[in-house]
Amino acid sequence: MSFLHFRESTTPPVFAPAATKKDTPAIPDPQVFTITTLQPSVSGLPTVSQCAVHLELLEAFTWLHNRVYKEEALSETFGEDPEKNLWWRAVIEVAVGRFGIWWEVVNAELKAREEGEGVSNTDNGMKVLPRDLLPPLDVLMVWHSYMLNPRRYNEDCIWFGMGAMMNIAFPYEHIHEAIDDDKWDYKLSGHATRYWERITSQAPDILEEIMWKSPPKKFIKCPTCAKEIGVFICEIETKNRKRGWISEEFAVDCEDCGMNITMESLCAEKFRKDIKSLIEGGEDFRMRITSLDLQGATYLHPSSPTSFDVLNSLNTLIRTTFPEPPTLQSHPTIASIITPLDTHPIHSLLQSCYTETPTPYSLNLSLAVLRQYSFVDKMHHQLWIRSPGLMGRLPLDSIPLVRPRSETRSVVLINPPDTSGFLHRAVSRYETYFSLFKLHPGKILVPTLDVDLIWHSAMLTPAAYREYCRNVAGRFIDHNDKLSDDTLGDGFEYTSTAFEEATGGEEYGKCLCWHCETALNEKVKPEGEKEERWKIWKKAAGDGKERLVRIRVEYYREVEKRRRSGLGGLEREGLFAAMKKK
Ligand SMILES: [Zn+2]
Ligand SMILES: [Zn+2]
Repeated sequence: MSFLHFRESTTPPVFAPAATKKDTPAIPDPQVFTITTLQPSVSGLPTVSQCAVHLELLEAFTWLHNRVYKEEALSETFGEDPEKNLWWRAVIEVAVGRFGIWWEVVNAELKAREEGEGVSNTDNGMKVLPRDLLPPLDVLMVWHSYMLNPRRYNEDCIWFGMGAMMNIAFPYEHIHEAIDDDKWDYKLSGHATRYWERITSQAPDILEEIMWKSPPKKFIKCPTCAKEIGVFICEIETKNRKRGWISEEFAVDCEDCGMNITMESLCAEKFRKDIKSLIEGGEDFRMRITSLDLQGATYLHPSSPTSFDVLNSLNTLIRTTFPEPPTLQSHPTIASIITPLDTHPIHSLLQSCYTETPTPYSLNLSLAVLRQYSFVDKMHHQLWIRSPGLMGRLPLDSIPLVRPRSETRSVVLINPPDTSGFLHRAVSRYETYFSLFKLHPGKILVPTLDVDLIWHSAMLTPAAYREYCRNVAGRFIDHNDKLSDDTLGDGFEYTSTAFEEATGGEEYGKCLCWHCETALNEKVKPEGEKEERWKIWKKAAGDGKERLVRIRVEYYREVEKRRRSGLGGLEREGLFAAMKKK
């Protein structure tokens, strides 16, 4: 169901097309990006403006995704793919490679600048990624998905010695500058482009990079003889495609020793290497995913029950189980390595850093981006960033006073300017939601879509998020997007009850559509059944305000429909006229 399919029983007003761009309102209202700060907030709560930029960014991801699906020239690089899903998967894989270069260089750059005092702190001491280090969109997309798995992100930063990346905040301000909020395309500044080109010798635009070069390869090391082997990310010939890196059946024979290399053999090799590093790294060396308690955080996530002792005992168990580093002969598979450890309470957490994850990270970043894209898609369908309920109230009580001012394009939207509205409510719902972690330890608490958006926005400032977790929940809260539907269903019911108890009856699983949210702004009770509300149109019946809410939603829908067809906007005067008419 999309909000663009509407008019079941309708006699909505007809709005006239605008003659010039000046006669149409800017949607979203530019004020939403300036009314609160875009700098990391000391409270750890994201601001309304940060969340709005986040929504913009998710639309830019959709824009990139759509370009991949429409770019027929990719068939020359990746082969024919009627569904285009393989292309998207392959592009993400290339993006992950680009991210790997970027984050290492940028971590070193940040460290160097910090020593030279080149990174300016915000008022509260938090550091934001500087403007000229802003990466291309695809790299930003990978970084974004990585940070939305905060436990793994933080742990990996420690594991790789990337202290600067662990603390640097997502640059909402610079991202906003890079996005055109009409078409949602994303463009780096000259400085950022030059920096990127210097460190990678690659085009900032990933599709340009892919199409102008030979088909991209992934380089792997043979677990037996350590020979470096280049494999195509996506095989061009259809009959061989299953051999490509992104194929589920990926396999390649080593040219030197003949070993049949698979995902599993690469994952097991990574596991063996990590254990070797632990054994040979001395007493202070810690295994992957067991470090964060050293930073003063305690981890008690329901699905990963750990505490400082548990993390220590895992390290001890590995050391005693493997007096000698495991070898390909002694421990050829992940199962053979994990089995002697499987009495340990967090062995599955450790195992999950290796299963499906042949890359150096504790998380398969390509799969994380793919999973995250389903959230991006949900946001695209809700399209809150274009909603009339995004923030602020309508000038309903003062329509006769509203005068269009030609010098600003935002006059129809908010009068007077205020931060209330959908985003504001979502932030405060997130606050309540998060406080439930303290009241209901050990329970799986499932966020609604709006709460999840704010949660995501919060995790993109990792240092503030860690602090917020400690202050509000009393422990670090991980974000897990891999829970099963059954678990989510049960968890959601529990969370609804807990939320409603904590708020004295505020509805948790409410409808979040444009209409309901715009009505809420005006304290109007939307008419009709929840699922049907958006379809209803009544010319003059019911509450007068309800009618005005509907007119405005109708106007915004029409504008969006026209924008997608490449047509110009609608006269804002038409909106005033319709609202004034009794
Ligand atoms: Zn070999
Ligand atoms: Zn609704």
